[in-house]
Amino acid sequence: MIKIGYGAGHGYHTPGKRSPDGEREWSFNNKVARAFANELALYKGVITKRFDDPTGETDVPLIVRTNGANSWGADYYISFHHNALSGRWGTHTGVETYTFTYPSPQSVALANAIHPAVVKAYGLTNRGIKRANLHIVRETEMPSILIEGGFMDSTIDIVKLRNDEIIANVGKSVAQSLARFLGLSKVAESEQETPVSTPSRPPVNSLTPTPVPTPSEKPSQSSTKLAVDGYWGPATTRALQRHYGTTVDGIISGQPRNPSTVNIPSARFGSGGSQLIRAMQKDLGTTVDGFISYPSLMIRALQRRFGTTQDGFISKPSQLVKAMQRALNNGTF
Ligand SMILES: [Zn+2]
Repeated sequence: MIKIGYGAGHGYHTPGKRSPDGEREWSFNNKVARAFANELALYKGVITKRFDDPTGETDVPLIVRTNGANSWGADYYISFHHNALSGRWGTHTGVETYTFTYPSPQSVALANAIHPAVVKAYGLTNRGIKRANLHIVRETEMPSILIEGGFMDSTIDIVKLRNDEIIANVGKSVAQSLARFLGLSKVAESEQETPVSTPSRPPVNSLTPTPVPTPSEKPSQSSTKLAVDGYWGPATTRALQRHYGTTVDGIISGQPRNPSTVNIPSARFGSGGSQLIRAMQKDLGTTVDGFISYPSLMIRALQRRFGTTQDGFISKPSQLVKAMQRALNNGTF
């Protein structure tokens, strides 16, 4: 398994880091990061882990991000950012990718493999691959790059950043160029739909050894359609975690024991709450505490969204969970 660490720069509330109209850099970064992970989930032999807070609530310190990626043993790291010049609208423009001031050859190879796809996906001026003494590319022990995708204070670039289709395509393109760089192939189903151009491996001696997935390896869960059975088990939780860009482990951690959570096979009882539930609550506009309470406003909001009975309760099986599974399968969640 090739391990890819990634993150959206900053946090939602980080001071500065916004367009002259108040749009948050993290929100742009987050959209690219999510599209990146969703696309990479279609490939086999690769696993991703995100090192910022996927809800945006906290700006995870850089040292925590790089220590996390190092101790996880990431093989590559990609940091998603958007640029700013003065914080006042101007016509400066373009996309740049950074490596450390003294980059490893593997970092340079990674930048070379990905930067052209980034330029193309934004459709903006190519400002080139640059070097800088930035924490995230300096302290990561694996090949790493930081992508600055256009200026938030540019009247030219902001048009692209405000276009969700373009910005999602950026994340997708980064994933596709990374997959080509690593010689990854898609899991069987999608392979037929979207043939990947001939995978080219980078020169062997310029890379850390990377395991090659064997044909017998079982396809990653992402390709498999969820059973629409109304049971909120690990597979459904994993699909939700991929959707929301939280750690994909199939577990809803830190939950109170109540009539709802005892019906959720992927729930673990304890304190602290779940990152996934926090992300869902944020998405649904209910109180963000990470807990599925009984009854739950978040569950009620989901029931409203999917048109099932609004009782704030998860039964086993559950009509709501069936509707969620259908939507996750169709990409309409
Ligand atoms: Zn930034």
